[in-house]
Amino acid sequence: MSTTTVKQLTGEERFRNIISHAKEYGFIFQSSEIYDGLSAVYDYGQMGVELKKNLREYWWKAMVQLNENIVGIDAAIFMHPTTWKASGHVDAFNDPLIDNKDSKKRYRADVLIEDHVAKIEGKINKEVEKARARFADFDEAMFRSTNARVLENQQKIDQINTLFKDAMEANDLEGVRQLIIDLEITCAVSGTRNWTDVRQFNLMFSTQLGSVTEDSSTIYLRPETAQGIFVNFLNVQKTGRMKIPFGIAQTGKAFRNEIVARQFIFRMREFEQMEMQFFVKPGTELDWYEQWKATRMAWHRSLGFPESRYRFHDHIKLAHYANAACDIEFEFPFGFKELEGIHSRTDFDLRNHEQFSGRKQQYFDPEENENYIPYVVETSIGLDRLFLATLSEAYTEEVLEDGSTRTVLRIPAFLAPYKVAVLPLVKKDGLPEKARDIMNRLKLDHLCLYEEKDSIGKRYRRMDAIGTPLCVTVDHQTLEDGMVTVRDRDTMVQERIAIESLAAKLQDKVSLQRQLLCLI
Ligand code: ATP
Repeated sequence: MSTTTVKQLTGEERFRNIISHAKEYGFIFQSSEIYDGLSAVYDYGQMGVELKKNLREYWWKAMVQLNENIVGIDAAIFMHPTTWKASGHVDAFNDPLIDNKDSKKRYRADVLIEDHVAKIEGKINKEVEKARARFADFDEAMFRSTNARVLENQQKIDQINTLFKDAMEANDLEGVRQLIIDLEITCAVSGTRNWTDVRQFNLMFSTQLGSVTEDSSTIYLRPETAQGIFVNFLNVQKTGRMKIPFGIAQTGKAFRNEIVARQFIFRMREFEQMEMQFFVKPGTELDWYEQWKATRMAWHRSLGFPESRYRFHDHIKLAHYANAACDIEFEFPFGFKELEGIHSRTDFDLRNHEQFSGRKQQYFDPEENENYIPYVVETSIGLDRLFLATLSEAYTEEVLEDGSTRTVLRIPAFLAPYKVAVLPLVKKDGLPEKARDIMNRLKLDHLCLYEEKDSIGKRYRRMDAIGTPLCVTVDHQTLEDGMVTVRDRDTMVQERIAIESLAAKLQDKVSLQRQLLCLI
């Protein structure tokens, strides 16, 4: 095996390179690019769609196939407009926005404050790391509870969080503005503190149902997939004879008119969610909440990315429907950000749907011999953010022993867009025919790529760049002894194996079953 060195890039460089790589190799394109694009809307290309599909499938199998008490649905994007009254979205699905008068740049007020808090947290972490490097028997908990500078900064954070939470709960937008001014937060563009008032902005897109204006009514593009599950709760429970506790899973598009849309596919106006609502007996929800936190973190960890990339973040400002909530955050190239939300949503949604629809949303519990509205624990992950996390972790620039460089996507093999590439060494002498023959044996089970253009070295690099775990090369010797060269993407090690053993080798390399087994 040759020695390689991984190029060290700053987060910013990494992110920039990932974005251009995603475009160059057909993972992600800007939407309607020929018209200069549409802000915060993206299209998945031929590679992206495969990776996205594989991620979705891994989630679906882990949630639905491995859990007897979870079933899936696919609800429509359009829903009766009263749905969004009942869910609270018409009245409360707002973000507080603020503009800088000098740069005219628009920000989310809560994000400005969160970023400020993150900076203070960064200072604390630096102190901790410095101390850790100095003392062999370092006890972090003890250090955090005794070091004066850490305590002072922690106090600052607690104070800011309380002020912010109180202001938001009282809908005191002037209070939020004052906090931004008191914290001396400046605009990243103009560098000034010349802020407008804070205003609430509803994130739902609306449109008209019906062709004639007078008859039409306003409907919304769903801002979350969850409500499609709630309104079908009894349909599924009754037709599926489901017993509490049980879950309903769904994947699908959601739409939000985000104020600040940036960071590539991290924050989009049209995105895909993978949600599961778990219906439980009232009073048991917080136990289930803890259980789902652990289960979902284990699922993320099963992807094999470093443990240090993940952390839980408890919500300080609980949404109007929750009695406990946290995020699983991932360290993207631009820092730790929310990847998945886990929320204990109480009976808020079902109770409101009961009230607004006039239809009972109750479950008869045969064991307790009573009717009740179940409580709900939700797990909600953005597929696009999961995609970005996977891409960020997989993207590696390497310098090889001979000084040349390669860019490789170390995507977990079972998720890779193409599982294998079949490459005839030259475009003649019967090698393409042999290669096609091999490909035909493999393509019933796996997505395979055939490529005969360019030198074999160039083709290997191209396969590295799209994350293909194995390359199979057919050469003249193959025609004589029925052996092929198999090259591994990550180690670049090549071995000769018999064509008969290829299917088993490939299956072993990309097995989804083995991956799922880790979760049972
Ligand atoms: P954020 O605080 O980042 O705006 P959120 O707390 O509003 O996210 P939720 O309503 O909990 O997000 O949605 C569940 C998941 O949907 C999020 O964890 C995220 O992965 C995904 N998601 C939400 N908004 C977007 C978006 N604009 N673009 C891409 N994914 C999103």
